[in-house]
Amino acid sequence: MFTKKVQDGLNDQINKELFSSYLYLAMSAHFESVNLSGFAGWMKVQSQEETEHGMKMYQYVFERGGRVVLEAIAKPAAEYKTPLDVMKKVLEHEKKVTASIEALYELALKEKDYASEVMLHWFIKEQVEEEKNVNDIIELLKSIGDNPAGLAMVDQRLGFRKKG
Ligand code: MG
Repeated sequence: MFTKKVQDGLNDQINKELFSSYLYLAMSAHFESVNLSGFAGWMKVQSQEETEHGMKMYQYVFERGGRVVLEAIAKPAAEYKTPLDVMKKVLEHEKKVTASIEALYELALKEKDYASEVMLHWFIKEQVEEEKNVNDIIELLKSIGDNPAGLAMVDQRLGFRKKG
């Protein structure tokens, strides 16, 4: 059964996904301002994906005959440091999102809402992917250290990411 508790949890998660989108867009804008267009492009795709995550849940709430309630989206930080620092912030943020999705999954189980539980499988798998991708970039950035040529190479590589 689709309970009010699960509906509230999903509405809350929609807000978190949309905040993620906004946060990554702020990071994309930061990278544009420091002429790292590959990083900026990668972040923009990341931002678009987060909007899609939010919309996936938005659509699902309607499918269950529920009500979507949109809350205010928090303001993301505008100032950032090095690319490594930004990517570490992304990983930290994604870990929080993972914990939040896992808590929602727990709630669906507790409420015996099996359909929501199954729907959330996709998100749980997606989080594994998200964390891995960001971790790979962090490792790459650590390996180049302060080498400008290395950073230019990573920027070029990230710029290849297309909207999937
Ligand atoms: Mg997401």
